[in-house]
Amino acid sequence: MSIQVTSKLPHVGTTIFTVMSQMAAEHGAINLSQGFPDYDGPAALKDAVKRHIDQGFNQYPPMAGVLPLREAVAAKVLDCYGAQVSPDTEVTITPGATEAIYCAVMAIVTPGDEVIMFDPAYDSYEPAVLLAQGKPVRLPLAPPAYRIDWQRVRDVITPRTRMILVNSPHNPTGTVMTAADMAELAALAERHNLIVVSDEVYEHLVFDGQRHESVLLYPELAARSFAVSSFGKTYHVTGWKTGYCVAPPALTTELRRVHQFVTFVGITPIQLGLAEFMRAHPEHLRELPAFYQAKRDVFNSAMAGSRFRLTPSSGTYFQLADYSAISSLPDREFVTWLTREVGVAAIPVSVFYATPPAARYVRFCFCKNEDTLRAAAAKLAAL
Ligand code: PMP
Ligand code: GLN
Repeated sequence: MSIQVTSKLPHVGTTIFTVMSQMAAEHGAINLSQGFPDYDGPAALKDAVKRHIDQGFNQYPPMAGVLPLREAVAAKVLDCYGAQVSPDTEVTITPGATEAIYCAVMAIVTPGDEVIMFDPAYDSYEPAVLLAQGKPVRLPLAPPAYRIDWQRVRDVITPRTRMILVNSPHNPTGTVMTAADMAELAALAERHNLIVVSDEVYEHLVFDGQRHESVLLYPELAARSFAVSSFGKTYHVTGWKTGYCVAPPALTTELRRVHQFVTFVGITPIQLGLAEFMRAHPEHLRELPAFYQAKRDVFNSAMAGSRFRLTPSSGTYFQLADYSAISSLPDREFVTWLTREVGVAAIPVSVFYATPPAARYVRFCFCKNEDTLRAAAAKLAAL
């Protein structure tokens, strides 16, 4: 007898990141699709993790994460955003930012609560809301500027609106929120008593001298926000799946209630290694914007003569490109063709929308060695 199940996520298939990375591998294409570096994390960081493994730090850490890493996060948050947070009651180490976002949503959203998010939206947001039996309210960011239309946000707020989920620097568009956006967000959240989930995994990847607008810069916003980040992005170790969440004590208590039954904890030696590296190498964070800006510039200059039209990338390690001068294929078909026939894999942007716009964009990832970027751009510029 076959087992009958009612899917809780009937519309969810394999994520586009897995699909495209697999296709790239099958066809030997240069993989500018899924966001991960083709270079390694710092040697001193890897050594620190290995040393902690060898020294026997291989059992469960505390549920909130090892104290030295929570202290390092608190020190960093003070240094970068002037926010004084308690490592005990306001910082939680999680197995990736994804887990933190999931736990924050699960902790707050009750059946029928509305959660505002912006398309193109990172793919984990909506499933988390649906599993909490909340209602995703997806507002489009219009190309090519992809700014939040705050009037539209005001128009969709109802008494059931409970949460707003923002992401800056923004994946996949590379846009960053401004101080004016933060003022709008703070005012709306206050007026309607909303909880904010602020996905800031690319907080240290902001270019051209701009400042990252963290919710932690604004005490009134910080008081009602989960600020989420990822060591994977910051230290070039996406496969270590380690992130954190900073939130005021009342929100952290609720986050941890869920976190302790989703995963309970992350991995001890990785957390201790990160703590040691953060203390010993504060310059890593200072150097990161220039490191990624240089990669963006190498890729974009190499693409200058191409028929792709690039939108400005102010942050993240992603670059959007309008391919309408090259092809009239829908973006999923275009990236399949690009991977198989041209040898470069990219992400179709329509998959991040509830209702995709007519514009034709793909996302290229530039957290790659310069040789990789130049080789990919040479193929793309020939189209
Ligand atoms: N949010 C965004 C916007 C991302 O791009 C990613 C990257 N994968 C994540 C969250 C998840 O980060 P992590 O790998 O630490 O779970
Ligand atoms: N965040 C990465 C990206 O946007 C991928 C993460 C994943 O594979 N789920 O490419």
